[in-house]
Amino acid sequence: IKHMRSGSSTQAPLDASLMTVELTKSPREVPHPDGDETKAQKTCTDHMVTARWTQAAGWEAPELKPYGPFSIMPTASVLHYATECFEGLKLYRGNDDKLRLFRISRNCERMRKSAARIALPDFDPQALEEMIKALCARDGGKWLPKGRPGFLYLRPTMIATDPALGVQRPKEALLYIILCCFPDMSVSLAAPAPPALNGAATNGHAKAGSTGLKLLASNEDSIRAWPGGFGYAKVGANYGPTLVAQGEARARGFDQVLWILGHEGYVTEAGASNFFVIWRSKETGRLELVTAPLEERIILEGVTRASVLQLAKERLAKTVGEVEQVDVVERRFVMDDIISAYKDGRLVEAFGAGTAFFIAPVALIHFRGKEIHVPTAEGESGVYTRTIKKWLWDIMYGNESHEWGIVV
Ligand code: PMP
Repeated sequence: IKHMRSGSSTQAPLDASLMTVELTKSPREVPHPDGDETKAQKTCTDHMVTARWTQAAGWEAPELKPYGPFSIMPTASVLHYATECFEGLKLYRGNDDKLRLFRISRNCERMRKSAARIALPDFDPQALEEMIKALCARDGGKWLPKGRPGFLYLRPTMIATDPALGVQRPKEALLYIILCCFPDMSVSLAAPAPPALNGAATNGHAKAGSTGLKLLASNEDSIRAWPGGFGYAKVGANYGPTLVAQGEARARGFDQVLWILGHEGYVTEAGASNFFVIWRSKETGRLELVTAPLEERIILEGVTRASVLQLAKERLAKTVGEVEQVDVVERRFVMDDIISAYKDGRLVEAFGAGTAFFIAPVALIHFRGKEIHVPTAEGESGVYTRTIKKWLWDIMYGNESHEWGIVV
């Protein structure tokens, strides 16, 4: 049994070179990037890629085919036991009119880790990468017209379609990749925060003129992830249970939940993004860029997070002009650390980092009845947030040629 589960030699590997192609007979019109259809986030491009897996035979040939519904049995494992994982990345139309993906191999590797955590089958990440690129090459040109920098959102997904209702490791699965229209949240480099979310904040908590995110720290009765759990995996089961807290935060005028763990107030992530703080260290007097560590496996290892850390280590290693040298630190920190930095005037900036909302400055954190006003330059992000955002932006949109920006 162990032999069969871990993939016997009779199980076919995922192989992108076997992909069949069936083009749509009813191509659709590309919606306006700021139109209602795009804002609804329900519009995908003309095609999708699918690949079926069975424990008996392994991976079948992937299919590139018209976008549309598929049918699964009401008993399908995913519908009962949340046997699902996914990825999120963007296809960018650059300022130079080229189409690019950003560090796609990281997403493909992460999807393998997520699949392993939720009892879904393993696959060659290179094959997934090639399938994603094939869909981008097929639909990217039409759906991201030249002459206008922008992006589409890619959602590689795997679900267990096994129709056996028993609680067990699934024997059938479906991998699929869709390419979706998403409102223009980061296309303007100057945009300090996602406009769609800014609109939600109406309770006047933040200073007039400040435009960063307003975060509501979670309570002890609403924990996103815990040691020994699955917070590190991008599985649907990490998201559905956060929607009540997120809805309450929005209703109270906040943009996102800042996920806190334990009575001591361990700061983990903000919404669906990693969370960074910049403060002046009490001990060293030097600037520090701090974010939660990966070892405890309670946060997602964001591609944006890894990229922010690497660029900051490389490029903030010494003072240049108004940008001072910054020490880059991955470690556990608690809300009291932020509060004491705020009270001492050592709190410099804070931001969320993730694919969907990119680099979004934070203006306010509400924690157990206390409010922390994070400094933001009037109407803009602070200099470190702005600088890091521009570095990444330039790679994604082709202003800087860099190995992370992969032309398709
Ligand atoms: N944390 C969570 C919980 C997320 O869902 C995401 C979005 N994938 C991130 C962080 C940021 O990850 P990435 O930079 O890879 O988008």
